[in-house]
Amino acid sequence: MDDRGRILLRAQRPTPAREDGDTVMRAVEDVLGELERGEAWGRARAVGIGSAGPVDASAGTVSPVNVPGWRGYPLVERVRAATDGLPVELVGDGVAMTAAEHWQGAARGHDNALCMVVSTGVGGGLVLNGSLHPGPTGNAGHIGHISVDLDGDPCPCGARGCVERIASGPNIARRALEAGWRPGPDGDTSPAAGARAARAGDPLATASFDRAAQALAAGIAATATLVEIDIAVIGGGVAMAGDVLFAPLRRALREYATLSFVRRLTVAPALTGTDAGLVGAAAAALRAFPDPAAARLRSAVRG
Ligand SMILES: [Zn+2]
Repeated sequence: MDDRGRILLRAQRPTPAREDGDTVMRAVEDVLGELERGEAWGRARAVGIGSAGPVDASAGTVSPVNVPGWRGYPLVERVRAATDGLPVELVGDGVAMTAAEHWQGAARGHDNALCMVVSTGVGGGLVLNGSLHPGPTGNAGHIGHISVDLDGDPCPCGARGCVERIASGPNIARRALEAGWRPGPDGDTSPAAGARAARAGDPLATASFDRAAQALAAGIAATATLVEIDIAVIGGGVAMAGDVLFAPLRRALREYATLSFVRRLTVAPALTGTDAGLVGAAAAALRAFPDPAAARLRSAVRG
């Protein structure tokens, strides 16, 4: 990508997520190899990585939950080696999406924002005082794993009642099914089918979306109260449900975001779509290495 956010080259490989770590890395190296053969590569001054979490940007390692072969995997070092020592910036995928929304999407022009991805999981990131705020390890704004239900269901992270445990797509569908929702003749019990049922007026599917909206609202209100954001941007598959999610979310926010300084908080759907991670990783790299000459020097010093 260039400084103005235009995508110059694109390469893509499937993630062999169940394979060993080096096999997964070979897919990354294939992508880099294809990019390096492109004409625009000569002008590349930094590499941005947006990875499924958890990531540790301070150590340059990633441990994506769904890629068991990568635990504390030194992805930054490997990518630097595969790109002749270009400087590499690593952020979590929620932070990457936030960078994209702040650069080109619904958070553009906002100095204080929370951006969220609500899909299979719930991730997020923060813009504070006009800048992306990845935090020391690249995970700040991880709203999916703050608890909004103290005695709630155990979450795979080890805590209880996390936003993700209530508001992720699979959990919305699961809760509707447990309450007695029966899918249509096609037997589709996916979150998208749940959204269609809610839109058609099914009370059990609607109730499950309402509960998800309530959890999101509580998490957003807590974030706003802590750091004074003025907009919450929501993307991901569940946000595609539209008003089925956003109408109860706006209602619930009025219940939870009550103090004077958070009452003007608005909620908006994300705009950057499926390229959010790509655009955001580039934005994070440009932010980390704004000056091409300095980036080359820094890379040289690192060896
Ligand atoms: Zn959790």
